[in-house]
Amino acid sequence: MRLVVTQSLILPRKQRVAVFDGHPEVSIGRDISPDPTAPRLRLKEMGVSKFHASFFFNFSSRTWSLVDLGSVHGTTVNGVRLSGARQSSQPRELRHTDTIVVGTTTLVVHTHRDGLPCTDCAVVNNGDNEIPLFDAKSREVGVPGKPLPPQPQLVRPSTDSTPWLPTNRVLYPPGSPPGVRSQLCDSNLYLWQSVP
Ligand SMILES: [Zn+2]
Repeated sequence: MRLVVTQSLILPRKQRVAVFDGHPEVSIGRDISPDPTAPRLRLKEMGVSKFHASFFFNFSSRTWSLVDLGSVHGTTVNGVRLSGARQSSQPRELRHTDTIVVGTTTLVVHTHRDGLPCTDCAVVNNGDNEIPLFDAKSREVGVPGKPLPPQPQLVRPSTDSTPWLPTNRVLYPPGSPPGVRSQLCDSNLYLWQSVP
C-alpha cells in the first residue's frame, strides 16, 4: 500500500508518497518512533497525538487496516471520524482511493491489484518525493540507496487467543467495561482480558 499526500501544512512540499510495502505495521505520531526499527509516518503538529493511529497489514486477507489509538483530534476516513476523542477505534479496512485525514494532512490510499505503482504513487527523482518512515538521525535508513534495517519480528499467533501485538499497545474501544481491556489480534478481532 502507498499513501499519496494531497494536502499538508506540515510535510515538506516535495514529500508526497509514503511506501508501506514490506512493513507489517506503520504508526502515525507527532514525535519520532520510540523504536527506531519501527516505521512511522511522522506528522509534527499539535493536531496529531504522540500515539495517534496505526496501519496494520492483515496477512490472511492481504489488506491494510487503520486503527485510531485514542487520539485527541481523531482520524477520518472518507469524511467519517473513526472514534471520539481519546477513544481507540475499531480497525477500518482500507480500499483503493480511500481518503484519510490526520491533522492538516490528507492522504489517499493506493493499493493496485497488480502491485505496481501508478504515476501518482511512484517514487521518482531518486526518492525525492518519498516520505521517510524512519528517523534519519537515529538510524541511517529511509535514505534512498541505503538498505532497510532488520524488520521487527512479528509474533505469529499459535492459537486464536494469542495476541500478536506487543502487550503494551492496548486498545480501549468505545464501551469497554471498567477493568477490561482488549487487544487487536491477527484476525482483526478484539480479545477481551481482565486487567489485574
Ligand atoms: Zn497509485
